Amino acid sequence: MSVLRDGFDKAILELGYGGSYSCVYPLKVNQGRHVCEVIRDFGYELGFGLEVGSKPELLAGLSLTCGMNGMPLVCNGFKDVEYIEMATLAAKMGRNVFTVVEQAYELERISASALRHGLVPRFGVRAKLAASGVGRWAGSSGLRGKFGLTTGEILHAVDYLTKNELLSGFRMLHCHMGSQVFDLRAVKVMVSELAQLYVQLWKAGVPIEVLNIGGGLGIDYDGTQSASACSVNYTLEQYACDVVDRIGSICDREGVPHPDLMSESGRWLVAHSSLLVCEVIGSRTFPTGPNPDLLERALQKDCPPQPVLDAHNAYRRVCEGDDFLRAYAEAENALAEATALFGLGHMDLEAKAACEELFWATGSAVLSAQEELPDGLDSLSDRLADIYFLNLSVFQSLLDSWGIEQLFPVLPIHRLDEQPTRRGVLVDITCDSDGRIDRFVAEGGSKATLELHPPASESELRACSTIPYYLGFFLTGAYQETLGDLHNLLGDSHAVHVSVGDDGHWRIDTIVDGDSVSDVLGRVQFDAAEIRIQLDEDVRAALGTGRLTPKEGASLRQFFDDSLEGYTYLK
Ligand code: PLP
Repeated sequence: MSVLRDGFDKAILELGYGGSYSCVYPLKVNQGRHVCEVIRDFGYELGFGLEVGSKPELLAGLSLTCGMNGMPLVCNGFKDVEYIEMATLAAKMGRNVFTVVEQAYELERISASALRHGLVPRFGVRAKLAASGVGRWAGSSGLRGKFGLTTGEILHAVDYLTKNELLSGFRMLHCHMGSQVFDLRAVKVMVSELAQLYVQLWKAGVPIEVLNIGGGLGIDYDGTQSASACSVNYTLEQYACDVVDRIGSICDREGVPHPDLMSESGRWLVAHSSLLVCEVIGSRTFPTGPNPDLLERALQKDCPPQPVLDAHNAYRRVCEGDDFLRAYAEAENALAEATALFGLGHMDLEAKAACEELFWATGSAVLSAQEELPDGLDSLSDRLADIYFLNLSVFQSLLDSWGIEQLFPVLPIHRLDEQPTRRGVLVDITCDSDGRIDRFVAEGGSKATLELHPPASESELRACSTIPYYLGFFLTGAYQETLGDLHNLLGDSHAVHVSVGDDGHWRIDTIVDGDSVSDVLGRVQFDAAEIRIQLDEDVRAALGTGRLTPKEGASLRQFFDDSLEGYTYLK
């Protein structure tokens, strides 16, 4: 947070800007109370505040800022009478609240609430700018955006406010061009339009003090520093300088005072704050050679099916260093024919299994024989990559990886003194084939597999029943668990809050248990108490018929009780 403060303060100082800067942290980006409390405490010292977008968020914001009346609380989002009333009453209590008018009809509600409570509240108006954003959230801006008032509506609002003696409350002009704005040019265009609007309104007598440029300050997830979806082509310093410079120079040209600046930078503040740690619970590798017994049996049949002979021939040719491309194509063809014959009932299980193993073995032999793969086989290593099973739900903890193909840096956080000799893709434990990650950060772009360590061998596992192998998913602090959902009823994962002191030492502040089975069942209207009663009736019936002994019945009840209170992920 102090980096953000310093970035803008430096730009303000260097460019001789007359206003100040503050940031309001949007709760929706990560509403975890412990995260919000840290932001609140640091933010208070830095003159920052909070942004909320709904009634529950406003109540959370009011609770977080209790006793900190000066802390700005910006209220965005769709508003009913109750939401506006809540904001007005908070202002009446002395809170530093800005209600932002997002839809024209909200003005009348603000005005009615102000009349009811005898105060002129401070509010902002969100402008629907023509400048459109870039990237996945470009739709948050532009003239067809969901929020904000058009220029005509703003003019109408000024008339309305003047007639109702509320113009003195219009203190903030707001806009938001969408999250993760990756191109600084787009920021400049938006800020220029906002500044021009401010200048004209100010000249028309609107006492705007604050220009709020919304969120959008992006994160370089893939390290490419480019104008692409998972990166940004600017630094914080460049962002701050361009915002301050654009607004300052437009105001200077028009002889209008520099307004204070505000941003609602959420992603930038919290993306780095969180790392998802996840255990690999197993892996699937493809055969590197055919099972000799199986192959012998398949070949020794009276009349081995042609695909078995072809697949075997392909495998032999690759092992002898023959034309890899043709041999691999022959193996592929043999597998396709074997599948078709098996489907028609003309091939037995052993022959089919032998064809499959020969196919994988042929691919694997090509890979190990050749450093540079010929054209046409360049994606072979991806096709033969291992599959690593992770004890997580992509839909709960890495939603953007599934929903919008967001790249997060991933790497093993164990065995870092060993060369990772395998390549793999990652799959989660949901019953959904979409629950997989097969795009990873790579130099200059992305890659389809990740370098990983070989899984523990059977004998290693026998020697020590738990050899953990954990992967870390980085930059997951913004929007992930918050947006994540209950696919397969896999709930929130455990969270550990860690802080680093001034002396550089870290400590665990809080451990927040993830959802229990009864928690997630409750969210889909299953009552754990009722489930207990139903299962208890079953146990009693089994006791009555002698299927269970009283001792077995008691331990079964205990087992179900423990399961209902247990963790939703694998143990
Ligand atoms: N402000 C508003 C109005 C938003 O809708 C959002 C999110 O899209 C933000 C701020 C936060 O944006 P970001 O996380 O990109 O900073």
